[in-house]
Amino acid sequence: MSIQVFGLPVSRGVAIGRAVLVASSRVDVAHYFITPPQIPAELLRLRRARDRVCLDIERLKDGVTSDVPAELVALLDVHLMLLRDDLLAEATRHWIVERHYNAEWALSAQLEVLARQFDEMEDDYLRERKADVEQVAERLLGALANEAGRSPTGLNVEARDFAGEDPLVLVANDISPADMLQFKGSVFTGFVTDVGGKNSHTAIVARSLDIPAVVGARDASRLVRQDDWVIIDGDAGVVIVDPSPILLEEYRFRQRQGHLERERLARLRNRPAVTLDGQRIELLANIELPSDCAAALMAGAEGVGLFRSEFLFMNREGALPDEEEQFQAYRAAVLAMDGLPVTIRTVDIGADKPLERMSLGELRHEHGLNPTLGLRAIRWSLADPAMFEIQLKAILRAAALGPVKLLVPMLTSAKEVRATVAALDRAKGQLACAGIVHGPVEVGAMIEVPAAALILPVFMRHFDFVSLGTNDLIQYTLAIDRADESVAHLYDPWHPAVLKLIASTIEAARAAGKGVSVCGEMAGDPEFTELLLAMGLTSFSMHPAQLPAIKQRILRADMLRLQGGLADIMASEEPEAVTKAILARSRLPLGLAA
Ligand code: PEP
Ligand code: MG
Repeated sequence: MSIQVFGLPVSRGVAIGRAVLVASSRVDVAHYFITPPQIPAELLRLRRARDRVCLDIERLKDGVTSDVPAELVALLDVHLMLLRDDLLAEATRHWIVERHYNAEWALSAQLEVLARQFDEMEDDYLRERKADVEQVAERLLGALANEAGRSPTGLNVEARDFAGEDPLVLVANDISPADMLQFKGSVFTGFVTDVGGKNSHTAIVARSLDIPAVVGARDASRLVRQDDWVIIDGDAGVVIVDPSPILLEEYRFRQRQGHLERERLARLRNRPAVTLDGQRIELLANIELPSDCAAALMAGAEGVGLFRSEFLFMNREGALPDEEEQFQAYRAAVLAMDGLPVTIRTVDIGADKPLERMSLGELRHEHGLNPTLGLRAIRWSLADPAMFEIQLKAILRAAALGPVKLLVPMLTSAKEVRATVAALDRAKGQLACAGIVHGPVEVGAMIEVPAAALILPVFMRHFDFVSLGTNDLIQYTLAIDRADESVAHLYDPWHPAVLKLIASTIEAARAAGKGVSVCGEMAGDPEFTELLLAMGLTSFSMHPAQLPAIKQRILRADMLRLQGGLADIMASEEPEAVTKAILARSRLPLGLAA
């Protein structure tokens, strides 16, 4: 019988596939497909790893002296027995032969199956044997990793070069934003996590990949079993496990409809975004890596409005990218955009984007205090002036190759503003002294803390433009951790306080003759397009995948008419309902535009 699990819809569309369960702790295990001719060699790798581990344990046992407790020797015997047990060995072979998983992936898949069986055992003693199985699997994974010419690690599951396999969806308790990034170009067609909020960075990266996703589905990784058929409804936030044939057929139909709609929207690519009353709107792309520029251009973006440079800093075991490496990455983006502006945001490390590979659960456990209010973004940069200057110099050097804008995250006070400006001056001075070529940059501040929105004149004095980071602005205005699913229902972009801060920032920036854009998720959410236009916004930055739908919305929008309703929306306790009512009254019949 099928089961439904409810979570938060974070990335639109329908995915249907077999579940691959990955424990957060094993996300960095190598996951890749082997081709059918490679199966015997992969089985051999597994057998050799097992033989090596058995040999190590036998040696350990031989070296045991009389003062070693008998329990320890018995434990080694248990491990040897498990290594030779078919439940581990034979079943792991199944994942290699039938599913074409590499040995490490096959092993962790089987471990998930066994862990669940142990969890369900009534007998305490037997249930605790789960730890032994995990230890044995760890030893095997270690042996596989230590082979010469070992395979890559991580979730970089590459597209298969052989046909006839079922599509796969990933189910995990949690995935870090950096691991999520490795989905790019992978075979997973959707994903589900137990934890996370709609605007957590993991969810944002999922949206940028444009694959259906549901987060905060609490029990999903417990209810779904390895290899189950699963439907992910990324529009409704529902996960259907083991669906009936009728449900499958219905969702397959919806999937086809979704593909057709995307093809239709893609035709808008070369059309300028102009409202019905002639207002030209700039549509920019949010990217995580320079390689994302290709998707940005494909979607018709007119530049990069937010390059989240912190993704260059993650998963490097503390070794931060030096000036040259950063310069090469920024250079790649500038050259790829070929004369279109690239807005590089200085690192936004911290909160749910730690430097090291960590899931949310681990992060909360490790850091205890609230990292969202801690040393994050510009605070982190200003706390390490040498690191900050390296980044600033790399950005300034890239600016010699094309139009670059520099964007600073999470500024809150005039003191921080002055410290940032001073760091930039020092970086320019150092480059000039060393005779290193660098270019001019427009400098902008992200408005993502209410304090910044409330002292906007300070920002207007020091910066060329501002960019509204609505994801954080909502989080900090409403005191709702954007990554915490237990308060996700309170994370409300329609809250009148949030709308007031956005509207007043747009108005003040325009009055001061400064550029203003929105680069938070609101910019890519069609529900807000008309409202932001009515507030006077003419520059939107979003993930490339969101761009066509927003362009369509703009092509159908009549700004003057919408502006007429703005006062009512802003005065209302229910701005969402009022906005929808105004739009329903003024909406053009479908097909009239775009
Ligand atoms: C934001 O806060 O809206 C934003 C764009 O920055 P990030 O999502 O990376 O925190
Ligand atoms: Mg932010």
